[in-house]
Amino acid sequence: YIFLGNRKILYVVCQDITGRKKMQHMLVEQQNELYVQANIDTLTGLANRTFFMSKVEEILLKDNKQLNTFSLLFLDLDNFKQINDSLGHQVGDMVLKTVANRLKKSITENSSVARLGGDEFLIIIPNVDNEKEIINQMKKILTVIEQKMSIYHYTLYISASIGVSRYPYDNLAAENLLAYADTAMYLSKEKGGNTYTFYTPDMTESAYNELIMERDLRKSIQLGEFEVYYQPQMNLLNEKLIGMEALVRWRHPTLGLLSPDMFISLAEKTGLIVELDFFVMDYAMKQVSTWYAQGLNPGKLALNMSMKGLEYSEFIPRLSKMLAMCNFEAQWLEIEMTETMLMQNPDYSIVTLNTLHEMGITIAIDDFGTGYSSLSYLKQLPIDKLKIDKSFIDDIPQDEEAVTLVNTIISLGKNLHMDVLAEGVENKNQRDYLLVLGCSKVQGYFYSKALSAEGMQSFLQSQKTSII
Ligand code: C2E
Ligand code: CA
Ligand code: CA
Repeated sequence: YIFLGNRKILYVVCQDITGRKKMQHMLVEQQNELYVQANIDTLTGLANRTFFMSKVEEILLKDNKQLNTFSLLFLDLDNFKQINDSLGHQVGDMVLKTVANRLKKSITENSSVARLGGDEFLIIIPNVDNEKEIINQMKKILTVIEQKMSIYHYTLYISASIGVSRYPYDNLAAENLLAYADTAMYLSKEKGGNTYTFYTPDMTESAYNELIMERDLRKSIQLGEFEVYYQPQMNLLNEKLIGMEALVRWRHPTLGLLSPDMFISLAEKTGLIVELDFFVMDYAMKQVSTWYAQGLNPGKLALNMSMKGLEYSEFIPRLSKMLAMCNFEAQWLEIEMTETMLMQNPDYSIVTLNTLHEMGITIAIDDFGTGYSSLSYLKQLPIDKLKIDKSFIDDIPQDEEAVTLVNTIISLGKNLHMDVLAEGVENKNQRDYLLVLGCSKVQGYFYSKALSAEGMQSFLQSQKTSII
């Protein structure tokens, strides 16, 4: 009330708050939507990986007090890709939705299910210790998925492969449990699908590992999860850098930085090496051209090239494009091919090697001495450099045979007007002896291991005077 003179007046303030209410409502909706986007798989309405894994972590955290157990099921549809490719994504999406609904209905009340992505699903069954009971639940899931599906005018039958890992029996960490269930799932696939497999520790060691590595490699190549290291090549006469070899490293999402020994042969076997070599080529050429542009003196960049890469019809066009794009001069580039690869198919490689050579790119034979070169081919191929294999350098100067062999390669190089570089020089003895034998170019731990780009940059900055 207020008083106007002696009159008491009722004074009311009204404000239209519908706008504010609307605003609040919108905010709540937006928040919900953000929550949904972050935690729910929009196609199936199931929890997504993020949400699911946070749930798993939650159980693990709680477990400090009350001893829980759970089984983690990794489920992957069999031949889903075929359905998707032959009948289209719309049908594929419907299959995924149907599977999601069936999974929701077939699991017990305290179990939960999520979609990991693609045709991969995760199911968690808590507090079931009994193997028989877990098997029963998995059988039920497989049976439910197997049922006929009618999608648009198609009648489809689909099955699934399941892998299962158990907490705390197999591992204590969520990510490991997931990886183990995934591994076991691959074994189900190997058995022909439509079955389940329990994880056992020997699987991590076995051939299934290779299947998983192949899949990871494929993914990582798409995502570019690789790094290039650079190993200096030195001139013994003045201890200066003459160039560097690009050596690839795989930044594996869970296993860390892997050396090429762990994946190059798999990459070759599966043909993935072609893309990988292109990746390294692009990456290293960009890096080295930057160093040139900064006034540094990186010398020649040596790239390892697989036979499949060299044979690929797009090799020369892609390389030419890269040279132009990076302002990379052809004489800054060297291509290394192993002796074994070259000698397997010398007639075929001669055309491409000649083209490279005419462009001004030099060619080196890698691991020389291990691949039984025929002298007549050596003369025909446009070879500029022989890289003496580390296994011979390892044994000089104490082993007479090794000394003779290294000597022979050095004089062979001289006679054929080829450069010779010794690989894997690890100590002063070897270095001094190579000088005596007349080999002045080396690469090896005695000077430096392969360095990251930052490491190489410091190395270049420390090389004060220019290259001879
Ligand atoms: P490589 O071409 O013979 O490369 C030399 C290997 O010997 C490198 O191993 C290098 O780090 C190592 N090394 C160099 N000096 C020494 C030394 O003094 N002592 C010892 N113990 N080792 C030394 P890395 O980087 O593990 O590469 C292994 C192989 O993987 C390479 O052998 C090459 O065949 C292949 N590779 C690496 N990167 C690529 C690539 O980008 N493409 C292709 N196709 N193959 C690659
Ligand atoms: Ca090499
Ligand atoms: Ca080599």
